[in-house]
Amino acid sequence: MKSNGAPASLGALRARIDDLNTQLLDLLQQRAAIVLEIAAAKREQGLAGYDPQRESDMLNALVQSADGAFGAPEITSVFQSIFRASLDIQDRERRQQLRVLAPNAVPKEGVRVGNVSIGGGTPVLFAGPCSVETPEQMEAIAAAISRLPVQKIMRAGAFKPRTNPYTFQGLREEGLRILRDVADRHGLPVVTEVLDTGTLDAVADAADMLQIGARNMYNTELLKAVGRLRKPVLLKRGFMATLDELLLAAEYIFSQGNESVVLCERGIRTFEGRTRFTLDISAIPLLKQETSLPVIVDVSHALGRRDILLPCARAVMAAGADGLMIEAHHRPEQALSDGFQQVRLEDLAAIVEALGWSKPSNQAGSNPIQDTEIERTAGTGALRG
Ligand code: PEP
Ligand code: MN
Repeated sequence: MKSNGAPASLGALRARIDDLNTQLLDLLQQRAAIVLEIAAAKREQGLAGYDPQRESDMLNALVQSADGAFGAPEITSVFQSIFRASLDIQDRERRQQLRVLAPNAVPKEGVRVGNVSIGGGTPVLFAGPCSVETPEQMEAIAAAISRLPVQKIMRAGAFKPRTNPYTFQGLREEGLRILRDVADRHGLPVVTEVLDTGTLDAVADAADMLQIGARNMYNTELLKAVGRLRKPVLLKRGFMATLDELLLAAEYIFSQGNESVVLCERGIRTFEGRTRFTLDISAIPLLKQETSLPVIVDVSHALGRRDILLPCARAVMAAGADGLMIEAHHRPEQALSDGFQQVRLEDLAAIVEALGWSKPSNQAGSNPIQDTEIERTAGTGALRG
């Protein structure tokens, strides 16, 4: 009502609402800015960001002084929305501060492991058996890998995270000795899995790069422990892990000062049974979009079969991966673990050739998939079985 008793025109009332909206918006933005200041002060003092007691005190005070058309339920609902939005902006800010998301989290040259650079433009092959079994086995495999005309890192597990406790568990310390010895003789850098903090020193002494396996991606104590070392880490995605969880696992390593982290997509668990896991190709461009960390893909564990390995490897590289992990064995049928998915050494060489990685032009980082000659002639026949 106007002061003279005549009803205000609709237009005038709407104008007042518009004005109040603008004032509310301005007040909300002022409040949001203060929320972020408080969050920063709390971070500095090491205090928890969320204070449920303070929130409930504020709400009670507001409800008690609510004597207008809005009663307790409306005031509660409006202010709870404001409180929730305030937590959302704090979450967003916390995420923006993650070291792993910084544009230069990893240098342009990529992550260096010995003489190999991962993520520097030239693809890297991580190849080797599932497990270290004997010196003779490792010798045969290392000799073949060292001849491949690509950037390569030898992989082999000494400590094995097997699903069944009654299956081969790895040669442990003896496996590390065999691995180091053969790698030195063939001039190959090696990556091997570390299962726990108790064996970390032994594994770190023997390896050029530490692998955190899919089953250990959530092991925050282990992540922090490898973060305290200055040794490159290959962090595999847990098979039930979201990309956010993978990135936060990498953040655990970064948070302790170790910024040499390579991410590895290795398949996630779905309802599909034809492959051991489901290769999540979309993870590659998404991780590359959000981070500067190199991303490689373990096609062997993702697929659990070798007959479709080459087309999947092509897809992975076309999606922007910095390299591949392929399990290879001189006699897959006799392997003590994962024999069904390991490729023969001659097939490993054929895969590398089919991908076009061995062509000299590729050393500068061109995309082998765009080489139509290789696309036409490379077959998968030799890889079946
Ligand atoms: C491995 O690479 O040896 C392995 C066990 O893989 P994942 O952790 O991805 O299962
Ligand atoms: Mn394996």
